[in-house]
Amino acid sequence: MNLLKIIMNNKEFIERKTKILATLGPSSNTIKKIIELSNAGANVFRLNCSHLNEKDLEEYIKKIRRAEKIIKKPIGILVDLQGPKLRIGEVSKNQNLLKKDDIFILDNSKEIGNNKRVYLSNKKIFNSVKKGHLILIDDGNIHIKVTSIKKDIIRTRVIQGGILKSNKGLNLPHSDIKTSALSTSDKKFVKVASNLDVDWIALSFVQKPSDIRELRKICNNKISIMAKIEKPSALKYINKICEIADGIMIARGDLGVELPIETIPGWQKKIIRTSRLKGKPVVVSTQMLESMTSSLTPTRAEVSDVANAVFEGADAIMLSAESASGQYPVETVKMMHKIAFSTENEKNYNSIIANQIEQTPNTTPDAIATAAKTLADELSSPIIVCYTESGSTGIKVSRVRPSQTIITITPVIETARKLSLAWGVLCFLQKDEKNLEKMIESTKITVKKSGLASSGDKVVITAGLPLKVQGTTNLIRVTSIK
Ligand code: PEP
Repeated sequence: MNLLKIIMNNKEFIERKTKILATLGPSSNTIKKIIELSNAGANVFRLNCSHLNEKDLEEYIKKIRRAEKIIKKPIGILVDLQGPKLRIGEVSKNQNLLKKDDIFILDNSKEIGNNKRVYLSNKKIFNSVKKGHLILIDDGNIHIKVTSIKKDIIRTRVIQGGILKSNKGLNLPHSDIKTSALSTSDKKFVKVASNLDVDWIALSFVQKPSDIRELRKICNNKISIMAKIEKPSALKYINKICEIADGIMIARGDLGVELPIETIPGWQKKIIRTSRLKGKPVVVSTQMLESMTSSLTPTRAEVSDVANAVFEGADAIMLSAESASGQYPVETVKMMHKIAFSTENEKNYNSIIANQIEQTPNTTPDAIATAAKTLADELSSPIIVCYTESGSTGIKVSRVRPSQTIITITPVIETARKLSLAWGVLCFLQKDEKNLEKMIESTKITVKKSGLASSGDKVVITAGLPLKVQGTTNLIRVTSIK
């Protein structure tokens, strides 16, 4: 990959620390558009299985990899599984208006529903809800409360009415659904993803740590797992989920249905802090530039929302409908880049970001990462270099959010792609030299050529020795560029 050329042509994109994750869809499903989005600043592409079949998924992955070959830059791919999304059955074509205080029934009969009752296909719901639990239908537009449960009949009272439409989503914020984290269709998508070059797989509606373990068992071990936080039950276990998963997504769409919407900004802050503390890349998603699906200018509130996520130190900010089905996918990515870049160049950005992490985990790799940042600050180094096989040294250094560009050097293309989601990391693909001294010499040549460091600059280097063993970050070195 000719990264040097890319660096010289796109200095601003390289300097931006917060990564952009763009969802692909009907507005962006050609190789040409994928290249345009990538050149506009998208670092990782998300494929949303809620709107795809297995063949579509395969085609998208192949198109992204073809685009990657053309632009000669590692691109990350995140496959987002639908998870155990609950839905009501069909209802008649009449206007099925549910009015406040009406009695409404959820049952096991496949007959077409109406404003009195509807079919529920997931039998586990009947054992999971309890009297007094709230049930939300159609992204929280309709609220009903359980008054009694008898075998396969849930009787409810309407709290907030609305028109009932077929196959709409169902959220049960108070109930722990005793269902597998993966549906049969999720498992088919995981199989496709495992056989192709997918870097991240996101699991929806995670409720507990064992949901992540269940997915890990059926993934090939090269794929990193991202836990989507969108259920109140996941918040109970957020520390453990952050420990077990490789990354976290704050899925504000469903989270904002399951929790009072006004609590989402507070949860966003807490989840970002916890993920950063545990050193796991964290993504803020949903409605970030929603109005740009049909307008060339975002609202001021949207601009502030993106900037806020950047100030909170999120690793990545995500576009959903904006890049998948909106009218202006490329313009939206450009706008997101401009907001993130401008925010990161605010005078107080570096100190805000650095002051948010109070504790450093008590491990050698974390201590080395902290020391690398301190050394680079003291010596005014423009870059920190990490040699990494699995990506773990790069992620450790990214965790301490240094103001310097983090250059990770790896011989493994999958590592370069995975790291494209991590804050501040720029990944060079380079064959391992025979020994560390030779690696350092060739690194000096590369960074000088790229313009990221100049003659006389001191450069901090971290690595794990022996070089090919994962999680062994144990070396720190300072070298000078001649
Ligand atoms: C969300 O709910 O915010 C989310 C990202 O998930 P999805 O787009 O799959 O609903």
